[in-house]
Amino acid sequence: MSSLLVDDIGELVTNDAVGGEGGPLGIRRDAALLVEDGRVAWVGPARDAPAADRRVDAGGGAVLPGFVDSHAHLVFAGDRAAEFAARMAGQPYTGGGIRTTVGATRAASDDELRATVRRLRDEALRQGTTTIEIKSGYGLTVADEARSLAIAAEVSEETTFLGAHVVPAEYADRPDDYVGLVCGPMLAAAAPHARWIDVFCERGAFDADHTRAILTCGQAAGLGVRVHANQLGPGPGVQLGVELGAASVDHCTHLTDADVDALASTRVDGGHTATVATLLPGAEFSTRSPYPDARRLLDAGVTVALATDCNPGSSYTSSMPFCLALAVREMRMTPAEAVWAATAGGARALRRDDVGVLRPGARADLVILDAPSHLHLAYRPGVPLIRQVLRNGVPK
Ligand SMILES: [Zn+2]
Repeated sequence: MSSLLVDDIGELVTNDAVGGEGGPLGIRRDAALLVEDGRVAWVGPARDAPAADRRVDAGGGAVLPGFVDSHAHLVFAGDRAAEFAARMAGQPYTGGGIRTTVGATRAASDDELRATVRRLRDEALRQGTTTIEIKSGYGLTVADEARSLAIAAEVSEETTFLGAHVVPAEYADRPDDYVGLVCGPMLAAAAPHARWIDVFCERGAFDADHTRAILTCGQAAGLGVRVHANQLGPGPGVQLGVELGAASVDHCTHLTDADVDALASTRVDGGHTATVATLLPGAEFSTRSPYPDARRLLDAGVTVALATDCNPGSSYTSSMPFCLALAVREMRMTPAEAVWAATAGGARALRRDDVGVLRPGARADLVILDAPSHLHLAYRPGVPLIRQVLRNGVPK
């Protein structure tokens, strides 16, 4: 069994209240962390650090759990830079451009899709993301959804079937038939490669009845539920997600008091909500839209996660530090709340307790910053502060 000691940590963010300074980040000063067999084996003061086969010197910098990006669409072909430019010149975002990407994705080879997924996964890893959820949703045929998920599953255990992203053009006049396809042969082909099912519940995509039907079929096939909800306007997605026991409702840009109350009602022991509100400020940035009201959710006791929504249309960023900085500047989250939401919050949105936290037994997924404190992630936006990433205890 080989061991590795991460030593000379100026500030260690554990997200573990036990032994820390207090507060949800569980901060320890002048700390060290021992890794054995890809797991955290010990956390404590540097002066008490046990011997190890190898040593990584954090140089007095801050160490955090690796980011958990719980919402990303990495399986696609082509890009939509021209659409972005048109939007910045004043055209509104409607979600209609998804069909452009569907055409390019269907025409791409497996190897082309695989290369894009791996390029984006590596790009995210360099920016500190050690767990990334990957959705299908640009194939929208039985074969294209199944291959999208099989390719995603090569690089992540967190894969999500999003056959209900939009109704493809060939089903435009008969959406009920498309829902039947999604719940039938498409789900059967997708489920072996997926852990989750998701629906874009939005005007112009899937309404409440269709969303409920698809998510219920997915649950029956053993998949966990997540929902794209209330992004472009008010809608039924958030309350439907709560009703169906979703792990997460994502976007949450347009919420009523009843939506917030429904989320808060899922509070469980320990003070977290069983349904997490995952906020995706990269989408509001890239569509020049109003940001979700994170303060309202946090003040109501709703557990909040931050994720990138990385996709070629509405949020082509793989950078969790960028989203974290947006959340602090534009959504009035404190730096500590944003760091927690980007790590432990993402883990909760994926119902994981082995990532997003640095305590004995957890996966040794961590980032070493070129900065003395987690505060610098928002304080120094756009600066490459991630000096080193360890995933499963292995330096990347
Ligand atoms: Zn999305």
